[in-house]
Amino acid sequence: MPWRINIASSVLEMQCLYSKSMIKPIVKDVLFLGQKSSEATKDDLYIATDLRDTLEYHKEECVGMAANMIGYKKKVIIFTDAEVNTVMFNPRIIKKSRLYHTQEGCLSLTGIRPASRYEDIVVQYFDESFIPQIKAFSGFTAQIIQHEIDHLNGIII
Ligand SMILES: [Zn+2]
Repeated sequence: MPWRINIASSVLEMQCLYSKSMIKPIVKDVLFLGQKSSEATKDDLYIATDLRDTLEYHKEECVGMAANMIGYKKKVIIFTDAEVNTVMFNPRIIKKSRLYHTQEGCLSLTGIRPASRYEDIVVQYFDESFIPQIKAFSGFTAQIIQHEIDHLNGIII
């Protein structure tokens, strides 16, 4: 029964792939995703690596991710902007303007759903060295950040 051997070896390859990097399965449980995440600390810096590896794995279909989407109920997000992945700890929108209505998809959900976003935002956060930063974003990047920060507050589109 050679096909059985083939299946076994491909499962093994998959496990190797998963154990070398930190690609985590995507959480789709809306009860878990509906809970608020707690403040991240320096002890949670490792979550950045898992977010990077998991986002890289899904980069064809995904431009951002919140830590609870990979099982960590901590305030950490990642987003892609011009092919650069940025991780933010404890991000908080301190200024927002120019409300608009749009539609979004989410790796944790099926389909496209309506969402209200702001064109321009200013975000306060800690970077991967846990140094406080304040930065302005607009357009699509601002939209991704708002979607991911909503995840931290248990809000899913
Ligand atoms: Zn999402």
